[in-house]
Amino acid sequence: MNLNIEQIRADFPILQQQIYKRPLIYFDNAASTQKPRQVIDAIRHYYEHDNCNIHRGVHYLSVKATEAYEEARKEIRQFINAKSTHEIIFTKGATESLNLVASTFGKRYIQPGDEVITTIMEHHSNFVPWQQMCLERRALLRVAGINAKGELDMDELKGLISKKTKLIALTHVSNVLGTVNPVREIIALAHQHDIPVLLDGAQGVSHLSVDVQELDCDFYCFSGHKLYAPMGTGVLYGKEKYLEELPPYQLGGEMIKDVYLDHTTFNELPFKFEAGTPNVEGVAGLRAAVAYLQDLGMENIAAYEDHLLRYATEKLSAIEGVRFYGTARHKASLISFLIGDIHSYDAGMIIDKMGIAVRTGHHCAMPLIDFLKIPGTVRASFAFYNTTEEIDQLVSAILKAREMLT
Ligand code: PMP
Repeated sequence: MNLNIEQIRADFPILQQQIYKRPLIYFDNAASTQKPRQVIDAIRHYYEHDNCNIHRGVHYLSVKATEAYEEARKEIRQFINAKSTHEIIFTKGATESLNLVASTFGKRYIQPGDEVITTIMEHHSNFVPWQQMCLERRALLRVAGINAKGELDMDELKGLISKKTKLIALTHVSNVLGTVNPVREIIALAHQHDIPVLLDGAQGVSHLSVDVQELDCDFYCFSGHKLYAPMGTGVLYGKEKYLEELPPYQLGGEMIKDVYLDHTTFNELPFKFEAGTPNVEGVAGLRAAVAYLQDLGMENIAAYEDHLLRYATEKLSAIEGVRFYGTARHKASLISFLIGDIHSYDAGMIIDKMGIAVRTGHHCAMPLIDFLKIPGTVRASFAFYNTTEEIDQLVSAILKAREMLT
């Protein structure tokens, strides 16, 4: 193993605390990850040394803050291997990135009768924007299903592709099932039909090393806060040819070039999509988070998290009454489960009292939860600062919940 987990854990102040007189065990990383001291320090440094509104300022601080922001863009470009910094748009999160594309892509390319393909395993943030855009533009949203393991039904997806298809929008990794979708295959197939593909990378980018040029995806969206960076930060990657053609999303601020009484011209990429004062301190934190991850190495992170996932799967499988939701061949760092007929909230409350944070409920994926015909799941999602000893504690907490609730 190439990661020094003890040393890594020392970087995360929040993990040092006790809750209910027990060491905090944080298994809610798919909802949001904790922040290393390096990220917290970057935000502090920004406010103590660089804080100012960016772009167009001639004075010292404004230039310094602008440089920090644009340096961050270069580092994010490199992190996901985009061709150009023009293709990196800072947003406030995956949801905003996805809404931006749904709204502007709809206006630019979608006509009545056109179709968009998505999947049943999407988070609401990559489902509702497409659903609403299709309703507004009298287009049709087509939804590919899954098999019993929670893997995408590729035959069904292939069968949905037609001359009417204008875009395929799907998640890289499911936030409920943990399934890693065969996105390379889907992108290659879509491109044979000249259909662009958007990937919701909210659960992908923190666990897998992502190379957007190698994937050849047309859009890739993610949130900073699931990537050890501050809340209110996010990224939209889009191929320049699409970003050039799409209309602006919001109006005002740096996205403006010139304003006349009767019309306005817009700035070039990437500023065309960055209206208003951005979250500069958040982006400083995002830059520090990416540097931290690159220091650890995404391959090392993926290997260690895979070890945790296998360990947890094996240990939880041995508990009588535990049923998994999502047993795909390719999974990333989370398990969703139910214990007998215990409601996920009840189980979650008892597990919490044992000092362990898990998430319960529908995980903002109601179409999937309805399809599974369950009220929700308990989800334990792992990060590189978690340990097998913590998973052993989860096993004890599940046994306790089972004992108390059955
Ligand atoms: N997509 C997926 C797959 C997610 O898991 C999430 C967050 N749970 C989102 C999109 C939305 O992310 P955010 O709330 O950070 O915008």
